[in-house]
Amino acid sequence: MTDHIPSTSPDPELWDRPKKGPAGELFAPVAGYGVTISSMFRKPVTEQYPEEKVPTAPRYHGRHQLNRYPDGLERCIGCELCAWACPADAIFVEAANNTPDNQVSPGERYGRVYQINYLRCIFCGFCIQACPTRALTMTNEYELAGPTREGLVYEKEDLLAPMLEGMLAAPHPMAEGASDADYYRGEVAGPTAAQIEWVAEHRPDDPTLATAVSVDAPGPFDAAAAPAGAPVDSAAASADASGGKRTEGGR
Ligand code: SF4
Ligand code: SF4
Repeated sequence: MTDHIPSTSPDPELWDRPKKGPAGELFAPVAGYGVTISSMFRKPVTEQYPEEKVPTAPRYHGRHQLNRYPDGLERCIGCELCAWACPADAIFVEAANNTPDNQVSPGERYGRVYQINYLRCIFCGFCIQACPTRALTMTNEYELAGPTREGLVYEKEDLLAPMLEGMLAAPHPMAEGASDADYYRGEVAGPTAAQIEWVAEHRPDDPTLATAVSVDAPGPFDAAAAPAGAPVDSAAASADASGGKRTEGGR
């Protein structure tokens, strides 16, 4: 009746350790040092952070970044999909309407307020998967610490990608003849002469005017040679319809 139940009484042979020889008995008290001593001759694996920083894996999930289009307009359209996808409720977005005088991103709306709370974020990446315009991506930056809780709520200015050489700071009108779909398809390669003229007229002190490179007439904009409010060169204007876009359709 009870044949299938294994015996719980201990098998004495399980507990019998082999007897040590005289040498084993002699070195037994210091045998544990063998592990220590053998480790002394191995290559150390300790990372000397923060003195030496080891690069992360290329796809490491670090701090977020809000990207721009090549002409400087922001990619974020304030749709809040990232905030809805976030399981930690770490993102807050408040959108506003683009206007002719304040065109921040292609299309109707842009992200006026954008915050990520790094006290909540678990770096899962759901938000960047949800973003329809690739406005939101993640960098390899992992040094996210600070003395205050407020300091770990990153604002839009903290997250916006830096202006690259040749870009023109937003706000400014969209490239002539380009729709928001053209922007999404990567067909806008950089600022046009008309966009640069617009910024020169409305923000003559904008520092990106000195480095902006027009896709119509490549070369830094010369604010001194073209005073604020100067009309757009007609040849450049006529080229805008095609010059403001990439013809190969690549990014
Ligand atoms: S990485 Fe994850 S937790 Fe962090 S903001 Fe994005 S969706 Fe939220
Ligand atoms: S980052 Fe992307 S998903 Fe989030 S509000 Fe902007 S466009 Fe929408």
